[in-house]
Amino acid sequence: MMGMTLSYGMHQSIKLTQSHSLTLRTELLLALRGENMKPVLKCDHCNRTLELSDILKGFNRNPLDTTSLCPYCKKRFQPKLLTVYNFGRVEVQFWCPNQTLNWLKDKELRHPDTIRRENASVYYSALSHFGSLKNAFKKIGVEYALEQGLDHWENRVTPFLGKAPDVLIAECTGVSYQRVAALRRKLGIDKFESEED
Ligand SMILES: [Zn+2]
Repeated sequence: MMGMTLSYGMHQSIKLTQSHSLTLRTELLLALRGENMKPVLKCDHCNRTLELSDILKGFNRNPLDTTSLCPYCKKRFQPKLLTVYNFGRVEVQFWCPNQTLNWLKDKELRHPDTIRRENASVYYSALSHFGSLKNAFKKIGVEYALEQGLDHWENRVTPFLGKAPDVLIAECTGVSYQRVAALRRKLGIDKFESEED
């Protein structure tokens, strides 16, 4: 999966790469929810600096193997996310979307804090790939009711309207993208245009 199409109703759609979406999502999560995570862009073996797209491309689909492949030294390594939580900097494992969703199966009755305590790698990987646990659970067809939406979301998201796709803002906020799009149009803000188009 090299990219994803974000639908904007019947006539418009834009394409963002997976790595561009992930970067925008982590910026939104920091600004909106104070959730602080960043992929570590380095191979453990050869120390080369990697692109986020290299890491995403190097993941395999085996839910039990969370490593990625370095395009330079061709060795597999465990990618990491640098997180800042409770004023401490902690490295957790960066899992691919598949591995993250696989772990979340049958966990919908656990509170977000419990999931973070039990498996911080899954918690932060889920936020990176899906914007919220609610959206991650939705991908496996489960309604997750234990995560709080953003208070006063309309005021909080206004500075980001048009600077990120409505869909990404919605994922990180816990409301539908239609509501985000309606707010953006009401305020007369043009939709986000991908730089890569
Ligand atoms: Zn390497």
